Amino acid sequence: MARYTGAVCRLCRREGTKLFLKGTKCTSDRCPLEKRNFAPGQHGKDRKAKIVGYGLQLHEKQKAKRMYFTLESQFREYYEKANRASGVTGELLIQQLERRLDNVAFRLGFAISRRQARQVVRHGHVTVNGRKVNIPSYQVNVGDEIAIREDAKKLLIVEQGSQFAAQNPLPTWLEMSFETLTGRILHLPKRADVNLPVNEQLIVELYSK
Ligand code: SF4
Repeated sequence: MARYTGAVCRLCRREGTKLFLKGTKCTSDRCPLEKRNFAPGQHGKDRKAKIVGYGLQLHEKQKAKRMYFTLESQFREYYEKANRASGVTGELLIQQLERRLDNVAFRLGFAISRRQARQVVRHGHVTVNGRKVNIPSYQVNVGDEIAIREDAKKLLIVEQGSQFAAQNPLPTWLEMSFETLTGRILHLPKRADVNLPVNEQLIVELYSK
């Protein structure tokens, strides 16, 4: 399965905003964006033009795509599916991104970043309704029980993740027991339930051209 393997902090510097791909480092003064908030590369410092129109739409799409660590083709598929369904396209797009198993594993505290959660899922440490699922893009449904496998509960990233999640508010569409490391999907996320600094309307405008 294809994935981005380059330096992730460069992605934040490219977008000029924190994408939170490295867990606790992102909220510390070790975050490179704190000291070098300009685009990477030789001429990064010189590029200060104000982004408008198409550039702004592209910027919002890149930000969302990179935050959820998806590739362009998959992101585009989410848009196409949202566009075909009845409802607000932008909201349905965000909902599909939130319903990804790696995102839910991150939200429940099985890892300290979506990127790390993707790895936890890929390595087969996560179960959905008691069955191992190792597909990061798997879409969870209402009532699904998401858990970490017994032998993985002692993994350092899982321990760090649950400490991290216990200090951060759980989204209202999820329920979590930190004793058993088991979560449940209470309802599908609405836009207001998702704390995401992205203007999804601009993404819809970009793709609907
Ligand atoms: Fe982005 Fe986190 Fe790296 Fe900061 S530490 S640049 S927020 S990935």
